Amino acid sequence: MLTSPLLPQTLGYIAGQWTRGDARSTLTVINPATGEPLAEVPDMGAADTTSAIGAAARVMAEPLPVAQRRDWLRGVSQSLLADKQEFGRIITLENGKPHREGIAETEYAAGFFSYFADQLHHLGPEVLPQPIRGARWTIHHRPAGVAALITPWNFPLAMLAKKIAPALAAGCAVVVKPSELTPLSAIALCAVLERVGVPAGWCNLVCGAPGPIGDVICSHPAVRMVSFTGSTRVGKLLLEKTAPHVKRLALELGGNAPFIVFDDADLYAAVEALMANKFRAGGQTCVCANRIFVQRGILDRFTQAAAQRVSQLRVGNGMDPATDIGPLINRAVFEKVERHVSDALKKGAACLTAAAVTRADSSDRTWGHFYPPTVLTGIRPNMALTQEETFGPVVAVIAFEDEAEAIARANDTPYGLAGYVFTADPQRGQRVAARIQCGHVGINTGTGPTPEAPFGGMKESGLGREGGVEGLLEFCQTQTVADK
Ligand code: NAP
Repeated sequence: MLTSPLLPQTLGYIAGQWTRGDARSTLTVINPATGEPLAEVPDMGAADTTSAIGAAARVMAEPLPVAQRRDWLRGVSQSLLADKQEFGRIITLENGKPHREGIAETEYAAGFFSYFADQLHHLGPEVLPQPIRGARWTIHHRPAGVAALITPWNFPLAMLAKKIAPALAAGCAVVVKPSELTPLSAIALCAVLERVGVPAGWCNLVCGAPGPIGDVICSHPAVRMVSFTGSTRVGKLLLEKTAPHVKRLALELGGNAPFIVFDDADLYAAVEALMANKFRAGGQTCVCANRIFVQRGILDRFTQAAAQRVSQLRVGNGMDPATDIGPLINRAVFEKVERHVSDALKKGAACLTAAAVTRADSSDRTWGHFYPPTVLTGIRPNMALTQEETFGPVVAVIAFEDEAEAIARANDTPYGLAGYVFTADPQRGQRVAARIQCGHVGINTGTGPTPEAPFGGMKESGLGREGGVEGLLEFCQTQTVADK
């Protein structure tokens, strides 16, 4: 079992109390690298979610002074940085990613708290420069109301930081529901909020299976904002369930990122960018390249260079400093990757790396969902891995002839989260960026989001933005006061 000074208990947190609530059973948190149990957390449900929402609604009756919000946000950022090694260890143990990535995730999470601490002046109020119809007009950004925050397992700390920091900055009390696979980082973060002095009721946490918790969040009248990161499937479900109650929604959903490399690109820089982008968290990120479009003239050189780099990656336990790629989070994710690769091979793709895992290699192992990094070429549109995000360490290379074809194929998906273009021609870079339907575009870089800039999806990849001033205003409702 995991022992950590950051986790004196592994319970829910409601109205300032660490609690099992009404849970009659527990959920076991498993280390995906070893199959060992790390902790038991209470399987809380509808009654506890109602209590958590009630606690949040009660404290919101009295707004928090802005200066106090700023101090808490700064305090959380400093605590995360001070404990980044240990936070990184918790992330690695429950998620599987290499420890250095867990530390980097903690630094990234801290960045959201410090960034939003510095953005409170955007909340206004703003007075229009001259009277209109004899009245003075003032625009306020009021807190949206109680905000429910639902987060996935792939960045168990950062995905929550992106939501809690702007929510508290905006003056919203929150109810947090982390993934049942990775609740420990969220529990440790709530403990930090408690330590820096965020008063009881402003941050509440319920652990448990998603159905009953989600249903209360969607239907309870006091929840005015639902901020969700996860799959497009569940995002659509939340849209349906909240529609009758007209709640604000921010949805950060799935991607199917195109990574386009033109003949004139710096080939080795593009390969290095692909390595950093594709293999972070073992390929289990929403922004990682899913379809690698390479122009015909450099196709062979690019795929050989990529295959050579990929074959150097070391797969193993994330706590081993030599590890580049940890295990996939669970059997279901492993089987999806396996299905995508075998479907592609069956339909004529070629594998340029050691070997794709076969069912015979893997089915006798209950734990340790280690998938070997794989490079495939000859990918065609009828293959599953071009249509859905693979969420695993697979580089799927697709040949293209010209710019128009690259753009058309990049956009041939219902998703539109991140996209990348590599070219020596700056005008072409800008032209392609303007035409690919993605909320985040990298030109000659595979970098993902940053606290200072808005990030979010087009098409079925989501609604709303996280990060930047837009990320703060998501948690606000605008009120205009005409005062005569
Ligand atoms: P998921 O299955 O949709 O789960 C996400 C969260 O929703 C988890 O906390 C989950 O709880 C909860 N959930 C599931 N069913 C629910 C329901 N009926 N009501 C309320 N909550 C419910 O997604 P995932 O597999 O964890 O995460 C991977 C997906 O997230 C990928 O598609 C990835 O692209 C996307 N993602 C997007 C972004 C972005 O910024 N756009 C960032 C990261 C990940 P349990 O885990 O307890 O089941």
